[in-house]
Amino acid sequence: MNVSFYTLGCKLNYAETSQLQSIFERDGHSVVPFGQPTDAVIINTCTVTENADKECRQIIRRALRVSPEAFVGVTGCYAQLQPEEIASIEGVDAVFGAKEKFKITSLIHNFRKLDTPHCFVDELDGALDFVEAQSTESDSRTRAFLKLQDGCDYKCSFCTIPLARGKSRAMDFALIPEKIRALEASGYHEVVLSGINLGDYQAPTGETFTDVVRQIDEMQTRLRVRISSIEPNLLTREIIEIIAQSNVFCPSFHIPLQSGSPDVLRQMRRRYKAEYYRDLIETIKDYMPSAGIGADVIVGFPTETDAHFEKTFAMLHELPVSYLHVFSYSERENTPAAELSALTGGVPMHVRAERSKRLRALSAKKKFEFYQSQCGTEHTVIPEQRNPETGLWTGWTENYVRAEFAGAASLVQAPMRVHLRELSGAETVLGDILEDSSLFSRFRASDVSYIPIMM
Ligand code: SF4
Repeated sequence: MNVSFYTLGCKLNYAETSQLQSIFERDGHSVVPFGQPTDAVIINTCTVTENADKECRQIIRRALRVSPEAFVGVTGCYAQLQPEEIASIEGVDAVFGAKEKFKITSLIHNFRKLDTPHCFVDELDGALDFVEAQSTESDSRTRAFLKLQDGCDYKCSFCTIPLARGKSRAMDFALIPEKIRALEASGYHEVVLSGINLGDYQAPTGETFTDVVRQIDEMQTRLRVRISSIEPNLLTREIIEIIAQSNVFCPSFHIPLQSGSPDVLRQMRRRYKAEYYRDLIETIKDYMPSAGIGADVIVGFPTETDAHFEKTFAMLHELPVSYLHVFSYSERENTPAAELSALTGGVPMHVRAERSKRLRALSAKKKFEFYQSQCGTEHTVIPEQRNPETGLWTGWTENYVRAEFAGAASLVQAPMRVHLRELSGAETVLGDILEDSSLFSRFRASDVSYIPIMM
């Protein structure tokens, strides 16, 4: 049977779709690109946006236009939370919850269209198994995402992820080195350690995320390693110190702030104070002056007043973060924040949009300033894509600057030293490959004096 897949949402979802594809292939099916004629379509959904159902409907329509007789299965976070709603969408044959996601081929033997949709969705109470997953970005053969952790035990008042993904669980500590070595052997140059609440990694044998970082650092893998998003209260000084002296870990961080207002943070049930976040960012910059730091922010939380928002804006304006991911708050069913919104009426949509616009403009300014500060420095870049018209390659520096530089189509897509020259628009810095790049350290900016690393 031919089967195609479609993924919505985060990198972890992409990693899990890759895992699903391997399971289908192992069971004798052929994976065909989405949009081509197929016998079955599996959609791995997300529930973070309010548009989840709209997107899901659109994808089903697109799939059935090409293959009207295709079996349609829907899984992922939206499927776990709203199975009945999904089952009522025209064209859906089956819905699979979080526990059933990796068992689809044993639950369905005959992928034919059904008269009545089936729901295979169990409750997510109690301990859950950790299911491994890893994936590559579709546009790159250089970077892989390795899932180390799943689920979340926190109770942020706006978030449905703990309901959709269940309790926190993690990959066995002893397995991590072999996973890293396998990615190395497959020819990747970068791995992004991923999870839903990655910093909350707790191995069944007791090791923490600090132990994971130390273990990978000591492996001296030739891969460069990034940490995906990490909660501020879980990014310890010890982790920062390991990364600061490491020639394996990238000095780039993504640390959700969500709000700079102590009142709003409390109502969000976040586990840190605004002052703590400020100190954390300053500590990282003390250790790694050229570190790239991204922050998530939510605008329009039900109790966020103009004064609260101005506090967030002022804090981010001052802090040396390099870019922002701005989210407009959206009410999610069965969350305390949605109840608060129903009670208070919430923040009007046009105010959410206006605040979001202001923070996006601030993000563009932050990125511009960060990129400008990196002009004149040298970095390691892994070439990812080449534009045949301009002859320019693009790739990311270790500290998360998008670099562009001239190079032959035959260029080997391996880490190389690049001198960053000048800004090219708002999103890229133009640079030049250094001829003697092999003489330089692999990962660090030349302006970081405390890192004596050589190949
Ligand atoms: S830490 Fe908070 S925001 Fe993040 S997944 Fe857990 S509950 Fe949601």
